[in-house]
Amino acid sequence: SETAHIRNFCIIAHIDHGKSTLADRLIQKAKLVDDRNFQNQILDNMDIERERGITIKSQAVTIPYTSKNGQNYELNFVDTPGHVDFTYEVSRAISSCEGALLLVDATQGVQAQTLSNMYLALEHNLEIIPVINKIDMAAADVESTKHQIEHDLGLDAEHALLVSAKQGIGIDELFEAIVERIPAPKGSSDKPLQALIFDCHYDPYRGVIVHLRVFEGRIKPGMKIRFMNNNAEYEVETVGVFKLALVEQPELRAGSVGYMIAGIKTVSDVRVGDTVTDAEHPCEKPLPGFKEVKPVVFSSIYPVDSNDYEELKDSLEKLKLNDASLVYEKDSSAALGFGFRCGFLGLLHLEVVQERLEREFDQSIIFTAPSVKYKIHLRNGEEIYVDNPTEYPDEGKIESAEEPYIRASIITPTTYLGAIMSLCTEKRGVQTNMTYLDEKRVELVYEMPLAEVLFDFYDKLKSISRGYASFDYDITGYKPTELVKLDILLNGKVVDALSQLVYKGNAYERARTICERLRDEIPRQQFKIPIQGAIGSQIIARETVNALRKDVLAKCYGGDITRKRKLLEKQKEGKKRMKMVGDVELPQNAFLAVLKSK
Ligand code: GDP
Ligand code: MG
Repeated sequence: SETAHIRNFCIIAHIDHGKSTLADRLIQKAKLVDDRNFQNQILDNMDIERERGITIKSQAVTIPYTSKNGQNYELNFVDTPGHVDFTYEVSRAISSCEGALLLVDATQGVQAQTLSNMYLALEHNLEIIPVINKIDMAAADVESTKHQIEHDLGLDAEHALLVSAKQGIGIDELFEAIVERIPAPKGSSDKPLQALIFDCHYDPYRGVIVHLRVFEGRIKPGMKIRFMNNNAEYEVETVGVFKLALVEQPELRAGSVGYMIAGIKTVSDVRVGDTVTDAEHPCEKPLPGFKEVKPVVFSSIYPVDSNDYEELKDSLEKLKLNDASLVYEKDSSAALGFGFRCGFLGLLHLEVVQERLEREFDQSIIFTAPSVKYKIHLRNGEEIYVDNPTEYPDEGKIESAEEPYIRASIITPTTYLGAIMSLCTEKRGVQTNMTYLDEKRVELVYEMPLAEVLFDFYDKLKSISRGYASFDYDITGYKPTELVKLDILLNGKVVDALSQLVYKGNAYERARTICERLRDEIPRQQFKIPIQGAIGSQIIARETVNALRKDVLAKCYGGDITRKRKLLEKQKEGKKRMKMVGDVELPQNAFLAVLKSK
């Protein structure tokens, strides 16, 4: 059939098992870039990805491949992120593929996200090829990794491929396995167009760029297309494929992956998960699309300069194109003015959104303390959900409260078992299961409040297990809790944007930590600034930022003028990242700093 020589697959694995490095080898083999211009983890092209060494966005690429028997293929593959916050990126990639390379690091074995990503691939009936990576390393244990693939994953390890993505070992065999074992896509280019929008991005020069997997039919310039979700119609300007750069093509046909530009002015017309069809000959029904993702962490963002509100709104809209999991609505605060209440998939997601708004859209913003969504039972019988401390009802109206819980699954070498169990207990966790996967590895299952995981759980887990424990979670539901609203006062006044809902048992410690961190973050000013933590009218913690002793410039007395100017400029730079709250300057990251473990 016409799609016989197309293969669509994704690369999935636990974080750091080598997905992006393997993608590099595939791209290099296909000579999409010459060796001189090659940089490692070439698909991780966002600044944040390169700095943090992690993949945040799924990236699609099309490469040619000529098999041993001389047949030419078109391979479309997607490199995916491994972090638990970005599972949504993985599930969307999976929906546009027929197969998956499931990488397992031979020095680490099967980890928490190896399992969860495999289940995602199985749910979508993908052909899974197990790939054992990092076989070049001295610590590689291929036999035990094979055992884990059979035992923990229930996959046949006999035909697992042995690879070193870094050194390029086993890549030829891998290519052959891809074309032999992954099924060709179904579909016919004579049927009416049916294409899935699996991603999108905004280009300042070319506008909205829609990423498509064509399931049926064909799409080409001049054609009138319709988005099935809202019936918006546009004329296609160009289509093409991802070869690192966008490469124009005469058309995209059934089975293929590529992009479309259609002069889309209304950014909100485009929805990831929507089906694109031919406006003149529409298909009967839309493709299944994606499960709605529910945000679990909420925080408000405000422009540092209140005049930038409209610009921030515009930026959020454009960012949402490329990050369909971001949700937001209007919000306002007495202290910070107009802004947006946003929902995120986790704390890392929140940080990524903050950085992308700053770097890609040049926005100067301030985030409020993240919160989960609480369920509150009122005395009058009503039941409400609250994720914003400013909407927390009066104590007197509240009957009881519940907070979201997760089922946390932790895989660890037995050596760290004791320390991890104490950490989970400290975080109000209750153990529900413990399974020895083999002599050296245990899987622990805990019920834990999501709010505890948001703080420093992940960092602590990594540090007490020297990076060896892996962690995954699902939200399970609500359980009773005791909540208080913790207010923070600066200069004697409550700053609404700094209030937090906290578990009663943690309130004193939290108040103390917040006050200490704020003391360290708020720059000294001409006057003394008291910082207080309070529940209602009761002050439970206090710190002070002392007044500036001298003008900073005084230090430069007699010094040269350029140095003085530099200092002034630096201060101005700093100012941009400060928000005036009453007469106190609050640094942009004061809120996030509160959350980070020391
Ligand atoms: P990802 O998170 O799955 O995308 O993993 P990366 O591709 O970013 O790789 C994580 C780290 O493992 C990087 O430092 C890579 O250089 C290293 N790495 C990946 N594959 C191999 C391999 O085959 N051998 C060795 N020795 N290191 C590898
Ligand atoms: Mg990666």
